[in-house]
This record gives sequence, C-alpha cells and structure tokens, in this order.
Amino acid sequence: MNILSIKNLTKTYKSGNRSLTVLDDVTFDIEEGESISIVGPSGSGKTTLLGLCAGLDSGTSGSVQLDGKAMENLSEDERAAIRNQRVGFIFQNFQLLPTLTALENVMVPLELKKRKDARQKAQELLAKVGLGDRSTHYPTQLSGGEQQRVSIARAFANEPRILFADEPTGNLDTETGEMIEKLIFDLNKEEGTTLVLVTHDLDLAAKTQRIIHIKGGKIQEEAHA
Ligand code: ADP
Repeated sequence: MNILSIKNLTKTYKSGNRSLTVLDDVTFDIEEGESISIVGPSGSGKTTLLGLCAGLDSGTSGSVQLDGKAMENLSEDERAAIRNQRVGFIFQNFQLLPTLTALENVMVPLELKKRKDARQKAQELLAKVGLGDRSTHYPTQLSGGEQQRVSIARAFANEPRILFADEPTGNLDTETGEMIEKLIFDLNKEEGTTLVLVTHDLDLAAKTQRIIHIKGGKIQEEAHA
C-alpha cells in the first residue's frame, strides 16, 4: 500500500513579478514501511518537496496523497490533524518552542493525544537520544546538536507511521550522528515506520532502500539493492 503518492506535483514560488519553479511535474510513490532518501544540490527543492509531502505547504498544481488523503483538498486544520496523528517531522531548523523546556517540547505531541504518561514517556525519549540530563533546559540553553536531538525525540513521541527528516544528522558530530542514524533506522526496521530523509550525506542515503535525485525541479530515481 502506498502511504504517500505524489502526482504531477509542481511548486512555483512568486515574489514580486519574478517566479521560480522549484518542482516541475514530480511523480513518485512510497510504500508503507519503505525507507527513501531525497538527494540533490543545495537549492534544488529538497526541503520544499519534503514540506509538500508532509502537508506543511501546498503545491501550485498536482496532488499529494498522504495515507490515502489528498492534502490539497483539505483545510490547514484538517492537514494539521493528520500530521498530529502519526506523522513525525524533523526540521532542519528544529522548530522547538522557545518558551518550553526540552522535556515540555517532547511532551507536546503526547499531550495532544492526552497520554497520561506524557511526562514519563518524554523523559524516556530524551534519555534515548542521550539528553536525559537536559530535560529542564530551554532551547536557547542547548547547543545546535542538542536541539536537533530534542526535535528527534519529539518526532519519535508521535509514534509516527511516516517520519520526514530534513538533514537529521546535519548538525551532529560523528558519534552522535551515528547514534541518531541507528535510532531512525531501528524505527523503520522494528516499527515499520516509513522513512523519508533529505540529506547531503551520500553514505546516509545509501542506507535507505531507494534514492530520489532532484535537479532542476525534476526527479530522477535510482533504485539500489
Ligand atoms: P534545498 O532543500 O534543496 O536546499 P529548498 O527547497 O530549500 O532547496 O529551496 C529551493 C529553492 O526555492 C531555492 O532557490 C530557494 O531559495 C527557493 N525557496 C524556498 N522557499 C521559498 C519561499 N518560501 N519563497 C520563495 N523562494 C523559496
């Protein structure tokens, strides 16, 4: 079953009288449980594509079906409700809430689901990403790599069926990067979570089942064993 189905997707950004077509007639499917990476030069539209796949933004034309629902036919509230159910997103710029501690940030998706064990579960997830001793720190009191790990714990808290990750190991040292990589791939193998990664790191991309190359708004897919 396809968890994600992208058909003839085009995205054009307009500013003033200039327009820039970042995605040009992009079509591909992702099956539930697959791992896939999106690679391409800087500015080639990878982040834009990931945001459209996750229903964070709308395309100019074409269709994005996430879990059988056409995102372009839904209101922003309806799209948010789908994301809050079981979609995880690791943003390149983390998007932590600055007024909440690390622990409280990870608790957000758990509280949205009214989980009674939200605090305990969030503490476990922070420990899993190696930040058990940072729970009372606010984002500004954490390094970039630590903020990235909080954002990863928050994405995991949603028990995602599909995890979108934008450069998930981009800000991390080698050792921490390897730890996070293992957590993400374990989630795919053990829980069957579909994985969609954007990365510059070709070694990381080679660990996913499929690689989509994006260049000049077009995609070129390369399967590998
Ligand atoms: P990548 O992730 O591959 O580096 P992006 O998707 O971030 O690429 O950006 C692709 C292109 O679209 C870039 O030229 C970028 O400047 C432009 N772009 C991205 N977001 C916007 C926006 N909100 N408004 C206008 N242009 C944008």
